[in-house]
Amino acid sequence: PQLFAPERGNARGWDLTCARDLEEIEAARAPFRTAQFSAAPILAGEATGGETAPIINPADPGDTVGHVTQASAQDIAAALDAARPWQASAGERARVLERVADLYERDFGKIFAIVAREAGKTQLDAVGELREAVDFLHYYAVQARKLAAPPRGVFTCISPWNFPLAIFTGQIAGALAAGNAVLAKPAEATPLIAHLAVELMHEAGVPRTALQFLPGEGGVVGRALTSDPRVSGVAFTGSTGTAQAIRRAMAEHLDPAAPLIAETGGLNAMVVDSTALPEQAVRDILASSFQSAGQRCSALRCLYVQEDVAESFTEMLFGAMEELTLGDPWDLSTDVGPLIDARAQADFRAYIDAARAEGRVLKELRAPKSGHFLAPTVIRVPGIKALEREIFGPVLHLATFKAADLQKVIDDVNATGYGLTFGLHTRIDNRVQEVVERVRVGNTYVNRNQIGAVVGSQPFGGEGLSGTGPKAGGPNYVPRFAGSPLRMEGA
Ligand code: GLU
Repeated sequence: PQLFAPERGNARGWDLTCARDLEEIEAARAPFRTAQFSAAPILAGEATGGETAPIINPADPGDTVGHVTQASAQDIAAALDAARPWQASAGERARVLERVADLYERDFGKIFAIVAREAGKTQLDAVGELREAVDFLHYYAVQARKLAAPPRGVFTCISPWNFPLAIFTGQIAGALAAGNAVLAKPAEATPLIAHLAVELMHEAGVPRTALQFLPGEGGVVGRALTSDPRVSGVAFTGSTGTAQAIRRAMAEHLDPAAPLIAETGGLNAMVVDSTALPEQAVRDILASSFQSAGQRCSALRCLYVQEDVAESFTEMLFGAMEELTLGDPWDLSTDVGPLIDARAQADFRAYIDAARAEGRVLKELRAPKSGHFLAPTVIRVPGIKALEREIFGPVLHLATFKAADLQKVIDDVNATGYGLTFGLHTRIDNRVQEVVERVRVGNTYVNRNQIGAVVGSQPFGGEGLSGTGPKAGGPNYVPRFAGSPLRMEGA
């Protein structure tokens, strides 16, 4: 009967405009407001553990969220030795992944509390985080049932701090759905939520030989887990530079057929022409640039407004920015939380100071004094070419364009080499078609914001410097984790 049952839709989530949902959230996360959490290696056998370090709330230097014990060299060696593909049938694997989703939803209060305190997620983002994780589990469970090919073997999954539950879960669920063993290395900044996720996966029935957890530095644990010939593939989300380093390590040490599934950076633009609905465009720009404090690879970095409407439009945009609330992400009224760490904050301050010295800062809000906050800022640029690298925070660059130069704008966007998201606000149908055909990105959004791709309906991923594909949350993702590796003559 299962085969004929309709596929389960996306997670319901919580409605933050509904008082009952808000009360439910408040009650469920309250016990974890000051609780201490810990992360440590979880292996098939006993772990020894290396150094221990505190995890501090990025919004509040006085809040120690817990401690992380890094994987030792011995732990890494033991994990590689013990890793075994998951022997269960595809149907059983799918059922276990669905059980993981149920356990995530059971523990929602704890999850919301950890992602707020460890990663600085606002409640809106925390809900999105949990929903996406649950969606990945359901969607990849369905894919597991459809898959005919065998696992590749052992996958290393290296995930980012900006989606410390959703992307962490998505990579692992993709690899497990295909029956692989997983060695999971969480981001340095967010091991606590990742540790909880692995505990729940084991509770649901994933064998410990099929999923081991190795917190630690990228340069130590990440390097070791991407340069051992027993590893048959790597899933990575993070910077383009790190993906290139992983590619080199894999080329040297791994089977030549071992896939790298990488989701990397973006330098994303949006075009607003004179026919756009200004109120809607403003709302979508605020979300695209400043939600998650701009710490999404999909976020809007360079906005092009048509010259004819630029003055009135930017006035409306700057006015709307004033309405944003910055502060403690635990607070339900907060729109914009902190940056992840002091280094990101210092880098951005230097960047904005340099723009200010050139008279290019057009708008700047005020940020709370303590914590790693950065106020949403708008900086004038002649065009996207002025941006040399990915900017990972709440800084929006603003340029204007003449209607006759639209094709040139799109060519400039393509010339960045990145190709992740693109936004377009216009009421001209021909223009939509023209632009969508010309722009080379993974995800184009028309008359809406350009973040928050939904699993199953908006597979997410880019081209060029933005990633290797296959897109996460799409039909080609799980199959990429399957298929036998190439056997070399004499190997
Ligand atoms: N999937 C996320 C979105 O659509 C972005 C993922 C990322 O930042 O790595 O906003």
